[in-house]
Amino acid sequence: MMWPRWFSGLFLKPAAWLPKRAALGLPSRCAICHSWPQAPICDACISRFAQPQHRCSTCALPIAQSVRQCGACLKSPPPLDLCLTATRYSWPWVDLIARYKFRQQAGWDGPLATLMQSTPWAEDTLEEADWVLPIPLSARRLSERGYNQSWLLARRLSPCKADAHLLLRIRDTPSQRTLPRAERLANLAGAFAVDPLRTSQLQGRRVVLVDDVMTSGASLHMAARVLRQAGAAHISALVLARTEAGDDA
Ligand SMILES: [Zn+2]
Ligand SMILES: [Zn+2]
Repeated sequence: MMWPRWFSGLFLKPAAWLPKRAALGLPSRCAICHSWPQAPICDACISRFAQPQHRCSTCALPIAQSVRQCGACLKSPPPLDLCLTATRYSWPWVDLIARYKFRQQAGWDGPLATLMQSTPWAEDTLEEADWVLPIPLSARRLSERGYNQSWLLARRLSPCKADAHLLLRIRDTPSQRTLPRAERLANLAGAFAVDPLRTSQLQGRRVVLVDDVMTSGASLHMAARVLRQAGAAHISALVLARTEAGDDA
């Protein structure tokens, strides 16, 4: 049977509403293993694909159980006091993040924020924070996408402490994706600033920076430096996925 065109236009594609169904308490299908009825990401898939791993406390790369920081961080301490990631940037998260970020499926913010919240130390870190700040997008990127994926996560993680206007993106930068780390840092110089009328709100405060994917860490490091200059006392990063050697981001 053929539906008239106007009729099909009334409905979103099923994948787009899956997380929203869960928010309403309705059963849905797991986006990874397709079992039904399930949460948008089922518990079995979370324990299979998002096993907590021992990671460096300041760059979140996997390290041996016996140490707290990796050699690179010991040698040259990064501007983050703590860095946490929910998962590695690998299958199936790469696909889910692409749906969330590039295919207008903003409804994934809830299930993905839940995954971030269950990262070891994430709850304590959020609890102790004064501010939970997303990495801001440039105005151009924001108008293209229609939403900042990191802001949606930050708001889910801590509705009262999340703020999208304290840390600002004041300069648009070309896409970071193809650049090596040194060039990424140069590319980001002057990209972030703290709202000059609100610097007093950062004095001696604890901040959690939220981002979806951490690759070289250039954006998080640049944002952390700006926050530190404005007076923040402790800066953590909480990301959804972290690339490791060999991952393509
Ligand atoms: Zn599943
Ligand atoms: Zn490290």
